Amino acid sequence: MFKLALVAGHYLETPGKRCLKSIDPNETREWVLNSRICDKIESLLAQYDGIEVLRIDDRAGKKNIPLIDRTNAANKFDADFYLSIHHNAGINGGSGGGIVAYVYTKVDDVTKAWQKELYDAAAAQTGLKGNRSVPLASADLHECRETKMPAVLMEMGFMDSTTDTPIILTDDYAAKSADALVSVIVRRAGLTKKPDNNSGNDSDNSNTNSSDKLYHVQAGAFKDKNNAEKLKQDLNDSGFDAIIK
Ligand SMILES: [Zn+2]
Repeated sequence: MFKLALVAGHYLETPGKRCLKSIDPNETREWVLNSRICDKIESLLAQYDGIEVLRIDDRAGKKNIPLIDRTNAANKFDADFYLSIHHNAGINGGSGGGIVAYVYTKVDDVTKAWQKELYDAAAAQTGLKGNRSVPLASADLHECRETKMPAVLMEMGFMDSTTDTPIILTDDYAAKSADALVSVIVRRAGLTKKPDNNSGNDSDNSNTNSSDKLYHVQAGAFKDKNNAEKLKQDLNDSGFDAIIK
């Protein structure tokens, strides 16, 4: 079982962490952008076997979870990888930017491989290549330093760049980012897709043909038999035959 610690950086009210008003009148908060990508990562990974995800931020964005609590939680969880999603600032209304993948100042080759693969996939899929001189960066960041497992902090574009900001605000950008990051996790963790129950049978006509196949319509499933009886009655009243199985 591969264990992923997944973190949307900050929370809604972190001072200063928002898009530049002259570019985004809504001043979209960084946590909103971080969280949107994390939510998409989680739902994509839910399609795979062999992975357990611990989300380490307040999903509602209302509570600030201190960095030390985040890294302690990841260490206690004994995560195999720590992925923190952030968005950058520092261009002050100028143009340019791009994605930056951060690791701690001293890291092993495994962490470097995560860093490069995540950056390459995100840049390729989103096209947000930017002009940062060091897209593969290292810094003394708490989240990367205090985690006992390989850790990468992704800065997914600039919230104060006329180039990046209109792009990173879109849902399409968040979806492509999540797709790219998940493709790396799936590959490196060796995950396999869960069997898909909703398809695949159409081509399997070995035991039946269309003339004797019965299609059942299900209208509800209840733990409480009274609720089942009520729906049966409603269906009967509407002129449908209904049975309880
Ligand atoms: Zn941040």
